[in-house]
Amino acid sequence: MKKILFHACCAPCSSIIIDWVEDQPFLSGAFYFFNPYIHPYVEFELRLKSFESFMEKKRLGFYIDGTYDIESVIGHNSFGLSRCEQCYKRRLEATADQARKEGYSSFSTTLLVSPYQNHDLIIRLGQEAAKKYSVDFFYHDFRSLFHNGKKNAIKQKLYRQQYCGCIFSEYERFSAEKKQKGSIKQVTRILQKIEDGSNNA
Ligand code: SF4
Repeated sequence: MKKILFHACCAPCSSIIIDWVEDQPFLSGAFYFFNPYIHPYVEFELRLKSFESFMEKKRLGFYIDGTYDIESVIGHNSFGLSRCEQCYKRRLEATADQARKEGYSSFSTTLLVSPYQNHDLIIRLGQEAAKKYSVDFFYHDFRSLFHNGKKNAIKQKLYRQQYCGCIFSEYERFSAEKKQKGSIKQVTRILQKIEDGSNNA
């Protein structure tokens, strides 16, 4: 039995992976909430509490690291790496470290559900974290299940966030209506490719 620790970005994406894991006879999973760049603090608390109360009703295990790194949130663009690369790297490395300490054979992330995330970058950073912490990175393309998260959230009354997490993503989400429309079209194209079986990511 492969034991996977999934980094959890939020309750709706975790709900998709839970449904998927429950259908896999040779896998078991647990979840690890660690998202220190969510801004503002009220939004961070909403996502954390929503995840916690959702997981308390499930039979799978979970961990919560309530770190809220306001200094890094504010100084995000001063990082040498791109903003999202730094953010993914920190969350994936923390999950790999937690997986190793807790005796899981692999780790992964619910970020692989969203077509809005940089899928290829997540894979590369997951593989690098795996080497660094000597634990396998489990990859599966969950993007075709993305819309189930919305359905689960409505059905189970889960909090649904409007933007990725950091203050920059909040600004991008609410300030640039035209850009947003372009990004929705791009995501629709990615999902269509996955459904057609023509995406190799
Ligand atoms: S947009 Fe999302 S992944 Fe990128 S830095 Fe902000 S919170 Fe992290």
